[in-house]
Amino acid sequence: MMRVGVLAVQGGFAAHLRALVDVGCEAVSVRRPVDLEGLDGLILPGGESTTHLQLIERFGLQPGLDAFAASGRPMLVTCAGLILAAARVTDPAQPSFGWLDVDVARNAWGRQVHSFQAVADDSDLPLLFIRAPRITRIGEGVEVTARFNGEPVMVRRGRLVGAAFHPELTHDRRVHRALFGGGQGWLLRPPTLNS
Ligand code: GLN
Repeated sequence: MMRVGVLAVQGGFAAHLRALVDVGCEAVSVRRPVDLEGLDGLILPGGESTTHLQLIERFGLQPGLDAFAASGRPMLVTCAGLILAAARVTDPAQPSFGWLDVDVARNAWGRQVHSFQAVADDSDLPLLFIRAPRITRIGEGVEVTARFNGEPVMVRRGRLVGAAFHPELTHDRRVHRALFGGGQGWLLRPPTLNS
């Protein structure tokens, strides 16, 4: 059984913990550096990325998170998590960790108040957006694994997957299963109806 951590300092970590249990993982809340020990996978959830940055600093979590991201173990970053993982952040600009070579614009899907559910262009994957970031640049070696209205909304580099939407808040478990529940085939292609 995979032991998978969810950064649990603020925001939408509880739904990710439940999704991990749904796909057969042991789910662990990560609040201190010691919580990162012995994990096979890691999730950075949505929430308020500015607050996440402050709390990651206060709890001394950054070295451990950097090391995890560099290790090649499966990692999912959603919404605010994607903002933290990006190379460059705009609207407004703020520091980020640069694990994933993409640029993101915060709160950029529609107006600030807009949250909406949609379906991916190239599959039936449900997409729930909550003040979501827009992926404005894709670096070399980063693959787009889902699009909406022609724009990238999920990307990956190896087993580090970034989603602008919230896979933990719909009933579809394909994203969590692909990374943490043995559904490895999906990593080679975008999720489709039959995967
Ligand atoms: N708008 C938030 C931010 O910029 C992200 C929203 C979310 O994670 N649902 O940090």
